[in-house]
Amino acid sequence: MSAKLAVKVQEVLNEPGCDANQGKSEKERKKGCTKQLVPGAAAGGCAFDGAKIALQPLTDVAHLVHGPIACEGNSWDNRSANSSGSTLYRTGFTTDIGELDVIYGGEKRLYRSIKEIIEKYDPPAIFVYQTCVTALIGDDIEAVCKAAAQKFGKPVIPVDAPGFVGNKNLGNKLGGEALLDYVIGTAEPEYTTPYDINIIGEYNLSGELWQIKPLLDELGIRLLACISGDAKYKEVAYSHRAKAAMMVCSKAMINIARKMEERYNIPYFEGSFYGVSDMSDSLRQISGLLVRQGAPAELLDRTEALIKREEARAWERMKSYTPRLQDKRVLLITGGVKSWSVVAALQEVGMDVVGTSTKKSTVEDKEKIKGMMADDAHAVDDMTPRELYKLLKDSRADIMLSGGRSQFLALKAKMPWLDINQERHYAYAGYEGMVELVKQIDKSLYNPVWQQVRIPAPWEV
Ligand code: SF4
Repeated sequence: MSAKLAVKVQEVLNEPGCDANQGKSEKERKKGCTKQLVPGAAAGGCAFDGAKIALQPLTDVAHLVHGPIACEGNSWDNRSANSSGSTLYRTGFTTDIGELDVIYGGEKRLYRSIKEIIEKYDPPAIFVYQTCVTALIGDDIEAVCKAAAQKFGKPVIPVDAPGFVGNKNLGNKLGGEALLDYVIGTAEPEYTTPYDINIIGEYNLSGELWQIKPLLDELGIRLLACISGDAKYKEVAYSHRAKAAMMVCSKAMINIARKMEERYNIPYFEGSFYGVSDMSDSLRQISGLLVRQGAPAELLDRTEALIKREEARAWERMKSYTPRLQDKRVLLITGGVKSWSVVAALQEVGMDVVGTSTKKSTVEDKEKIKGMMADDAHAVDDMTPRELYKLLKDSRADIMLSGGRSQFLALKAKMPWLDINQERHYAYAGYEGMVELVKQIDKSLYNPVWQQVRIPAPWEV
């Protein structure tokens, strides 16, 4: 690892905004997070994968992976981050490093690839991702990007997060660092208003941002930049002119939110768009922060009026489902902010959350979970599939909400299952999303197939 990257990794691990670091003494904090990587830990996503996840939702730029083709194949398009415009972000670009490049170096090949992309696609910027192989052979992507940017007069952004430096979460933050170092603050918006905000850590999965944006539009709040869901390069470049920010996922991009507050005086809060009351709370906090930053106070009244109307509308639409979901037992296996925000949303409609996963949750997330759940509920930290299967059986849950990887456990346990993670096909954010979530849970729970599969086979009787 280059000395510069080592310093950057240490800086990210030392992030003062991170809850784990806040609980440490000054001495411990200086030491940083020294937890050694376990071989094979990249199975849940390596640092390169994390950086790509964080930045790929930028829709109009070319994402060029400098490495063997498998790295790109691994990370390409495995999330349903939607775009309202350009679809260039969904084209997989890679330098496809081979044996000869490993011997002679891949820098020239990288330069030629950047040139080819500019000639064929002319994107507003190119993001170049470092990977294990090219980092180990010593390719200096920063120098190549700098030379290419000067030659072609276009931003070429190095994203130095080779897989071996750490896990996906570290990669998310290193991706954020690339934005802070090379993109944010490099352009100016045509105009600014007292109602300009950034949303940080929202990826527009299945179009969730589009369930929020109409509400902001109605209030006259301008979304200057979403980092990085459905974002355009120039929006991120001028996002430093926002008056306030909301951070959606605490673990992924805390460094962006904190450093933007430090550098550009943009205050932020952490909120959730899942569930009726959390959605209302987030709208209140956005308006409150904007008013504190100088927006007219009447925004608060308009926000309250909108919340009242939307809450009533959402509950009216959920009316037919809530009695059917009352006291149904849910096991929730997800990560990060969803581990508590979805718990709140499910409890709101009367469901009983019998367990939630805390593996990818921060200390603060875990505290929130503890406060919300009953004493006999399980907090699942790190479980083998066998243990999880037993938990499914023992907790006598009625439905499991999780990611695609654990769906077969639920099916084996003959239990209804709903995809809640990044591969999901439905958007669950905001009031609109809550109605959709309730509808999908109901559909899965009352699907007649469960009765069928639970009947013993003739040879078992
Ligand atoms: S960057 Fe490294 S760990 Fe990540 S996919 Fe490529 S080779 Fe594997």
